[in-house]
Amino acid sequence: MSKNIAVVGGGPGGYAAAFYAADLGMQVTLIDEAVNPGGVCLYVGCIPSKALLHVAALINEAEHAKAWGVEFSKPNIDLNRLRDFKNSVVNRLTGGLGQLSKQRKVNYVRGRAGFVNSNTLNVRMAEGGEQKLSFDNIILATGSRPAMIPGVPPSQRIMDSTAALELRDIPKTLLVIGGGYIGLELGTVYAALGTKVTVVEMLPQILTGADRDLVNPLAKRLEKKFSSIMLNTKVVEMKETADGIKVRLDGPNLAAPEQTFEKVLISVGRKPNTDIEGLDKTRVTKVQRGFIETDLQRRTKDPVIFAIGDIAGEPMLAHKASHEGRVAVEAIAGKKTTFEPRAIPAVVFTDPEIAWCGLTETEAQAKNIPVKVSRFPWAASGRAVTLDRIEGVTKLVIDPETERVLGLGICGPNAGEMISEGVLAVEMSAVVDDLSLTIHPHPTLSETIMEVAEAYHNVSTHIYRPKRG
Ligand code: FAD
Repeated sequence: MSKNIAVVGGGPGGYAAAFYAADLGMQVTLIDEAVNPGGVCLYVGCIPSKALLHVAALINEAEHAKAWGVEFSKPNIDLNRLRDFKNSVVNRLTGGLGQLSKQRKVNYVRGRAGFVNSNTLNVRMAEGGEQKLSFDNIILATGSRPAMIPGVPPSQRIMDSTAALELRDIPKTLLVIGGGYIGLELGTVYAALGTKVTVVEMLPQILTGADRDLVNPLAKRLEKKFSSIMLNTKVVEMKETADGIKVRLDGPNLAAPEQTFEKVLISVGRKPNTDIEGLDKTRVTKVQRGFIETDLQRRTKDPVIFAIGDIAGEPMLAHKASHEGRVAVEAIAGKKTTFEPRAIPAVVFTDPEIAWCGLTETEAQAKNIPVKVSRFPWAASGRAVTLDRIEGVTKLVIDPETERVLGLGICGPNAGEMISEGVLAVEMSAVVDDLSLTIHPHPTLSETIMEVAEAYHNVSTHIYRPKRG
């Protein structure tokens, strides 16, 4: 493979594409300003947040243990060591990617790339100077950044997700604006560390788009862990005062329309990084919300340029970015390939976790797709009872005609680890009986996937449903 390609952006889309292209024998240049590849995901996203959520889970579990007759004293939090732990996780993984890049002989260029024309990039080098480089193909993987709300005063007390992950301090109070997964995950971290967390969400539900029956157990638990969750509520003004950020709220049943918080986290979504210098010198086009327009191989309207990951559209998730990266590389290599997944899993790493894949019940209703839904409550799962976590639920969304599995949804601890079975089922066109006839190990939470399939035929071992008529 004699192709000479550039990948702009070293996140999970970019580095996966670069490594795969190198494995296929292409000459690869990977461009990013950071010391090592990693992007948002490894430096200020998935990885640091999950390291901190692991600590939060431990704190919560230790507190829960009181109910089982094991009482720990209140945790003493050494913020410097906690921050060091998080940073060491990031450094280990990004350093590993640097190694993998070298081993594959990827030319890693530290700098910011802009276009001179469709085949040529001008890279402003991190260490000063500029370099013009030409390629057969260019893959754009420049990712996304936090979206902001208008009228936010400049203040050290107002954070985006990147600032929140820095863990500068443990504020007494924190207002999280936006009840999406990033706000809830980071709110969970701060609440476990001792902050009184309030969430304000403009829409009637946290985690908009996720099925309500999956969200309900989480909402109930968060109501206990957080100070309050205000739905249908908007922040209409923010001002810095001597005590913190004074916010004016607009919504129903407010305890007080004006409240002051030591810190505020704005997590209202993310914007694609498509403001790439010189992009107008190419034929690349944009669609709604600024995403780059691509075909099913992730080729843009400029035939030599591809776009993958967060800049190429929803869902803005690391594993979707990596997969698209591999598809784009295969297209460049001339292989028959397309990005047409039936299921992209989504995981919210809160406590409990929520995970889903394929068709959700909400989407089926919105699109008028006839489905049957089977639910298995975790109160009937032996493993859930041993963990004292019976609030969970596993559900299947099924095509009533063919009995094909169209979607799987799970709420409960470890939902994120279990969802892949659903992804495989959807991708392989499994029918309900494929799941019920697959022997699952006992006692595990994964048995709930087998039993929710049995429950579809009303023959789940651990649920009794009286026969009708
Ligand atoms: P990115 O990871 O955004 O990387 C893009 C890179 O390109 C960056 O390094 C950027 O600096 C660089 N770049 C931009 N412009 C240029 C240029 N002109 N020249 C050179 N380099 C450039 N996703 C999950 O799947 N699971 C999770 O648990 C999860 N948790 C998250 C938690 C948080 C707090 C956040 C913020 C995000 C989380 N995400 C999660 C989302 C995930 O991080 C993104 O979907 C993923 O990083 C997108 O990958 P990407 O390759 O498209 O781009």
